[in-house]
Amino acid sequence: MRNAIVYVALLALGVAGVLYMAHLGGGVEIRVGEVAIFVPFAVALLIVALVFLVLHLLLVGIGALRRWPARMRAKREARHRVEGEAAVTRALVALAAGTPELARIEVRRARDRLGDTPQTLMLTAEAERLAGREEAAAEAFQALAARQDARFLGLRGLLRQAIQREDWPTAQRLAREAEAAQPGAAWLRQERETLALRTRDWREALALAAPGTAQAPLALAAAMQEPEPGRAAELERQAFQTDPGFAPAALAHARRLKETGSPRRARGVLEEAWKARPHPDIAAAYINAESDPLQRVKAAEQLVHANPKHPESELLIGRLATEASLTGRARQELEALTASGQADRRAYLALSDLEEVEQGDTPEGRAAQAKWLRMAATAAPEPRWRCSACGTDRAVWEPVCPQCHSVGTIGWTSPQQLPVAG
Ligand SMILES: [Zn+2]
Repeated sequence: MRNAIVYVALLALGVAGVLYMAHLGGGVEIRVGEVAIFVPFAVALLIVALVFLVLHLLLVGIGALRRWPARMRAKREARHRVEGEAAVTRALVALAAGTPELARIEVRRARDRLGDTPQTLMLTAEAERLAGREEAAAEAFQALAARQDARFLGLRGLLRQAIQREDWPTAQRLAREAEAAQPGAAWLRQERETLALRTRDWREALALAAPGTAQAPLALAAAMQEPEPGRAAELERQAFQTDPGFAPAALAHARRLKETGSPRRARGVLEEAWKARPHPDIAAAYINAESDPLQRVKAAEQLVHANPKHPESELLIGRLATEASLTGRARQELEALTASGQADRRAYLALSDLEEVEQGDTPEGRAAQAKWLRMAATAAPEPRWRCSACGTDRAVWEPVCPQCHSVGTIGWTSPQQLPVAG
């Protein structure tokens, strides 16, 4: 409104000026050679104004014409962006719905509209993978890995593919590259740990494992792999200290101490292990040096002194006392064990042996033995090393099940508890 008033005022001023000059008279004379044109001053002014106006309009028109392609391009790009983003959304929906062909169509459309951005390349790879076209997916991942801003994404995809086709050397190389691209990524740590387990690289797996008792079997496995005795001993000590209740580690650590001339410390390790979690192999290692039956009972009493009421402690003393003909002591331990409800088959077999020692080959003795043997037949089985993946029983602990090749699945079972991994 104000503009309109200004224009009208300017127009009025202009007209007034022209009328005033027409009233004043005078003019402009243009002379070319002999020809002379006389133009009244007001008309000359009008002509000049008109020429200015035409020139101005001409320049404005040329400017608009020159900007026209850029404007059209910007408009086209804006349209492509909108269409591309819509295609990205549809591709995501198709991926989530598990329809690979639709996803591929939408991803192609998105790539056509938006070009090769990290998002479109990632979607391409995912759609190709969903469609089972691993080669095409690998190409997209490689394109991602070649970009500085999306290198980790590409390497991650390639690593996942390598793991899937069980190409361990490539997977390890990619894991190292990914670690360099994105140090400390939690996902990568998990993958590297899985890789280390798959490639049986126990040292690497140990270094990557979360602190806790799960490290003990890895440390022991690393020790078994270690050719240098000093380093192996250190790993065995680490395994034992991480989990004193993990019998294989305690046995290895104690054996090494005994071999290197520290039998007292070896016994101390076995006692500590028994206190943490009694295991028959620990008892065997502890008392096997003794051959005299009475000395064996004494040694066993020393071993179990920290937890004498544990079923394994009662069973151990009961059996050894039977062998030493300490029948009263044996009966006391074994009956306490059966009364506790935690006895397994071994306790009833030990009681049968006790009857034989106590009563000899008499009708009473045979009847008592028969009773215990019947009970042994229905009792819970003795604990053992068993693979939780395939259910095979093993004589000793091993980091990898030789039957089904599962890692970390061999655990000590017992009637009262579920298998313990490791
Ligand atoms: Zn197995």
